[in-house]
Amino acid sequence: MKLLVTFSKKAGRKPIIAQVVKDTGVLINVERALIDSSEGEALIDIPDDMCQIVREKMANLGATVRLLDREISIDESECVDCGACVSICPQEVFYLDGDWKLSIHQGRCVLCGRCITACPHGALSQLGEP
Ligand code: SF4
Ligand code: SF4
Repeated sequence: MKLLVTFSKKAGRKPIIAQVVKDTGVLINVERALIDSSEGEALIDIPDDMCQIVREKMANLGATVRLLDREISIDESECVDCGACVSICPQEVFYLDGDWKLSIHQGRCVLCGRCITACPHGALSQLGEP
């Protein structure tokens, strides 16, 4: 299960992920981490049955935790393979295949929403949205 963990500058000085691994014994796979002067953000992958305890521990240490349990969905009847979503996605979720058709790398999306607003044909949505 993927979690997006955001640390404020103040909380970012603490070794939050290391502390949670130590306290829970859960092995946390850090898939991506970005830290700048104001905040830090980490995309982590953990076993499904440990999700609740890891979320609680991180929240107690001052982090904001978002569960990434949805994916981006493409309405193929609307998509014209223009590639606008390819260039805007920070996670390189989209690519054009050998036939210049839009394809997706599953499991990379962090649900930032940029592609949904960038698509000129309204072909993208979050799976599970009405
Ligand atoms: S931006 Fe929209 S229309 Fe263009 S390739 Fe992506 S999903 Fe298809
Ligand atoms: S929501 Fe964000 S991360 Fe996910 S596919 Fe769209 S642009 Fe990429």
